[in-house]
Amino acid sequence: RFISLEGLDGAGKSTHLAWLTAALTARGVDHLVTREPGGTPLGEKLRELLLHEPMHLETEALLMFATRREHLAQVIEPALAQGRWVVCDRFTDATYAYQVGGRGLDLAKFEALEQWVQGRAAGLLQPDTTLLFDVPLAVSRARLAGARELDRFEREQDAFFERVRAAYHARASASHGRLVVLDASKPVAEVQADLAQVLAGMGVA
Ligand code: C5P
Repeated sequence: RFISLEGLDGAGKSTHLAWLTAALTARGVDHLVTREPGGTPLGEKLRELLLHEPMHLETEALLMFATRREHLAQVIEPALAQGRWVVCDRFTDATYAYQVGGRGLDLAKFEALEQWVQGRAAGLLQPDTTLLFDVPLAVSRARLAGARELDRFEREQDAFFERVRAAYHARASASHGRLVVLDASKPVAEVQADLAQVLAGMGVA
């Protein structure tokens, strides 16, 4: 199985990723944890550039999909072929939310890249389940404040993040249940209880 985690910066994704991987280990599920942008030696170099180097919006989108191409070939598809679970911190839904929603990348160009990089004989290679940690902007802002040095995305204006959040919601509505929206403004223990239910739904009790 292929699971991805998504949400605004400051939604609590890292905390919940740690809980999720511990829960999978406790349940004896062989899994691999990885992230985007990144996940391969080349991808991690591209991540540094993406997070800190100003660039044209289409360059940004192309590099996001370039890291994804490498990541799929080197890490994700081999693991899935071995029957391992893959847990990925952000995947293509982030590109839709941040580059299309946030920055205004042309949708047709996004879809062409998605088809190019994730198109397979069986259809688009997407996560089986995507956990969307949803919080109002004020909550994510408050959690980010003073936490650590912010990257160039996290320094964007509120209006940018409102567009990102709206794009995540639109993507969830169109996903036929692939994206599971979790209210991540609740206390951590409650979100974990919701996550346990999602795992149970995937047959991991
Ligand atoms: O979740 P994480 O902090 O690792 O994400 C790194 C940064 O890259 C975040 O600030 C996120 O907003 C940004 N990002 C992006 N577009 C993507 C993936 C991540 O703008 N497709």
